[in-house]
Amino acid sequence: MKDTFKHKGLRQKLVETIKSKGIENENVLQAIGKIPRHLFMDSGFLDHAYQDKAFPIAADQTISQPYTVAFQTELLQVNKGDKILEIGTGSGYQAAVLCELGAKLYSIERQQELFKKTSKFLPKLGYRPKKLIFGDGYKGLPEEAPFDGIIVTAGAPFVPKPLLSQLKIGGRLVIPVGDDVQTMTLFIRKGEKEFEKHELGDFRFVPLLEDKN
Ligand code: SAH
Repeated sequence: MKDTFKHKGLRQKLVETIKSKGIENENVLQAIGKIPRHLFMDSGFLDHAYQDKAFPIAADQTISQPYTVAFQTELLQVNKGDKILEIGTGSGYQAAVLCELGAKLYSIERQQELFKKTSKFLPKLGYRPKKLIFGDGYKGLPEEAPFDGIIVTAGAPFVPKPLLSQLKIGGRLVIPVGDDVQTMTLFIRKGEKEFEKHELGDFRFVPLLEDKN
């Protein structure tokens, strides 16, 4: 588990790239500049780790493109100590970004292989989410609700109702919605039954799956 000057240099270039694509939040940029993304990928992909691209991880899943991670995180507006739920732990990279921002993080993954791998890996890098859960993200996490923010990192064919109902008033849900192409969608809870909705452009994610393999 090595992080060298070369990696740090490549990371600074990556930060400049996503800045030039429109990411402004300094805390988010700092987190991307700090986290050794190459360690979240298989060693064969080392050369690709600091390109602004998505890449395969285990179990036919992908680590999201850094720009997409930054874009979703910026929309979430995380403050230190916020209670955040992530759906789709995957490699743990997005989780690491949220931990860097001081979130009290809960994250759900439905693939057991990834759940096990990432549960072991994150603490080795010093990242300690409150809880990683092996389960179905469509249900959210009612026992820990309400949340300041919920982030979905897979493409959802529809907006799961439990996720909206598990937001605090003022809380934010960031979710890519659609089948082949997804519209990044931000919901802000304004009241018990009132939600403000913003649509923020097209993205491509692996699907949020309903049945376990
Ligand atoms: N946040 C991850 C991105 C992983 S890709 C990262 O930074 O690497 C999306 C992840 O969502 C995959 O790991 C996939 O297994 C998971 N996923 C798909 N459907 C799910 C569901 N219903 N509940 C929880 N996780 C799910």
